[in-house]
Amino acid sequence: MTGQRTASEPSVLTDIALEIDPVEVLRFQGYKRDADLPSAEVRRLFDEALALGRALMEPRAVVCWLAVTRQDRDLLEASGVALRIPEIRQRWGAVEQVIAALCTIGDRLERRVAELWEARELPLASMLDSVGSGAVESLAEYVNDVLCQQGIARGLKVTNRISPGYGDWDVAQQRELFRLCPADAIAVGLNAACFMTPVKSISLLAGAGPAARVDHYFSQCARCWMRDCAYRRVPAGHTVHR
Ligand code: SF4
Repeated sequence: MTGQRTASEPSVLTDIALEIDPVEVLRFQGYKRDADLPSAEVRRLFDEALALGRALMEPRAVVCWLAVTRQDRDLLEASGVALRIPEIRQRWGAVEQVIAALCTIGDRLERRVAELWEARELPLASMLDSVGSGAVESLAEYVNDVLCQQGIARGLKVTNRISPGYGDWDVAQQRELFRLCPADAIAVGLNAACFMTPVKSISLLAGAGPAARVDHYFSQCARCWMRDCAYRRVPAGHTVHR
């Protein structure tokens, strides 16, 4: 049950040149950043899964900019939908707009993972699943960077993304987020337990405004590919754009 949608002017992103961060993939495999070095065998498995994953993933996103009609300490309201997010005023400062977005890499990769499990090709199945998890995380960062680029064109600062179910934002608020964004535009579903399908999907919310607080947990510029951006705050490291 997704409720009635009240979003306006959604835009769909499909032409996405997504880069997958190997460190992120290995983190899903249990490797700690900078501490554990994968063996040659693991690297070979990773390369195989990465090539397979790149061929199977179909990254796409839908994005909706909405005017904020009310903001309190723990509340944002837009299009008649109340988003109850603990300490959101302190995290983001004053925002004039919220951006609700859904992104997915589609279901082809997870179907291949299921086939590999069935065939008892467990190491490759596990690594391919981690490639999918790394890909959708990169995709969410990619979308966050696009939002910042769109914000600059509008003269607005854009915050980091947050998602229902992370930190102390109740996962049940997925329903409200889905009311703001047309999930059918990218064929993403939400079940009664608030799990999305395809599984490798992420819903996110960002805020925007002249006084919005940026980089509240991560410098957005660190993975952004806009090399000559006049507003860049830190140098780009490993970007999410191929
Ligand atoms: S470089 Fe930083 S400020 Fe510029 S568009 Fe990218 S994320 Fe935004």
